[in-house]
Amino acid sequence: MYDDLSVAHFMEGLIKRNSGETEFHQAVYEFVADAIPFIIEHPHYRKAGIIQRMTEPDRTIIFRVVWEDDEGHIRVNRGYRVQFNNSIGPYKGGLRFHPSVNLSILKFLGFEQTFKNSLTGLPMGAGKGGSDFNPKGKSDREVMRFCQSFMTELAFHIGEHTDIPAGDIGVGAREISFLFGQYKRLSREFTGVLTGKSLEFGGSLIRTEATGYGNAYFMEEMLKLHGTSISGKTCTVSGSGNVALYCAEKITHLGGKVLTLSDSSGFIYDPEGIDAEKLAYVIDLKTVQRGRISEYAKKYNCEYHAGKRPWDIPCDLAFPCATQNELEKSDAEQLVVNGCQAVSEGANMPSSAEAIEVFHKAKLLYAPGKASNAGGVAVSGLEMTQNSIRMSWGEVELEERLREIIKGIHRKCAKHGSDGNGYVNYVKGANIAGFVKVADAMLAYGVA
Ligand code: NDP
Repeated sequence: MYDDLSVAHFMEGLIKRNSGETEFHQAVYEFVADAIPFIIEHPHYRKAGIIQRMTEPDRTIIFRVVWEDDEGHIRVNRGYRVQFNNSIGPYKGGLRFHPSVNLSILKFLGFEQTFKNSLTGLPMGAGKGGSDFNPKGKSDREVMRFCQSFMTELAFHIGEHTDIPAGDIGVGAREISFLFGQYKRLSREFTGVLTGKSLEFGGSLIRTEATGYGNAYFMEEMLKLHGTSISGKTCTVSGSGNVALYCAEKITHLGGKVLTLSDSSGFIYDPEGIDAEKLAYVIDLKTVQRGRISEYAKKYNCEYHAGKRPWDIPCDLAFPCATQNELEKSDAEQLVVNGCQAVSEGANMPSSAEAIEVFHKAKLLYAPGKASNAGGVAVSGLEMTQNSIRMSWGEVELEERLREIIKGIHRKCAKHGSDGNGYVNYVKGANIAGFVKVADAMLAYGVA
């Protein structure tokens, strides 16, 4: 058994078993390309079939979500929770509400979450869930009715010691509040079953900022190791959601200049830089008004490029913070030609496999999301701890902890990803460092 453990042979079987799930194939390939050579050097993992077990979720829950819109029409969506791996802690990972959501996307996200959560050093397993429901254009009452119906089913499968979801694309403070309120009604308990909660009912300070801040900190660590810093550098950021906005804020704190932000309709290019005052406008525009990024261009009289992504704009540093596969091979080539020095991913799997190859070939510093966006789940882990001990830590303490966790992740990646000649392959580093802890726990449990 497992005699032929080549990457090609393994992928052939995985693709056959998970037919049509292209994002899941992509995420697994990105992992096994590093993990299989490592396993061949460490045969106890191979003998125990660890990689075969790790690429199969513990379970996948799919359910119907019925709700009524403001016109009284009955609407039906599909809900999911992929409980991927709980070897090192309860399932932990976000919920995504977006029309593109399907099993492939949630399996790729749950799979990557396994290594991300392991890298944080906190006791968290991995899961991911969501729905093809689109909150965009819905009234608050419609979103509430959807969330209540979604939670009525999800509640059977989660719990503070079992599975603790959080937010992701389309799931912010409003959705988490509706979901938490419904869980509380159903369970008749007040427990920390979700993270990303509002401060009034058990949320943690800096959770909102954590993924974006963590991504900027990860970039700073990469640059520090290579003798430079964010200060004085021009930066392109994609997205204008939770991750992008706070990544932009921390870049500015660290002395960088943010030139771009985007949404699914296009991007704005502000050569003067998006400073604190402009960023406050965008935060209000996107989180309160729920408007489009094009409105920024009108207000600040700068360029808006409809239907385009920001990767053609010359920059020193790039931060993809919107969604998967938003940075393709030609974008990567353009970044290299324009002299970009480093890329740090706030989103999950924003760079295609071909784009990553371009980065590695050009020896550009490249941090995969599973390492560089782990700040969000790390502070979610800290929210769980605060809920358990019924205490709230202060902002300074939490940001210090976040920074230390990111430094620790960077150290692990640099240790396992160094090529011995001064270049760090952060994908390899994250894959191996994330893998070992989970694999050793699985080995210890025996055949299960
Ligand atoms: P939000 O919903 O807050 O924002 C998403 C942003 O990405 C919006 O600007 C949205 O534009 C844009 N976007 C979504 N889909 C597309 C698309 N197909 N093409 C171009 N732009 C798109 O989500 P988050 O900021 O929370 O999440 C962003 C990324 O970060 C995701 O990959 C997520 O998995 C990852 N992540 C999030 C964490 C968190 O703590 N929130 C933690 C770790 C990773 P529009 O408004 O037009 O849809």
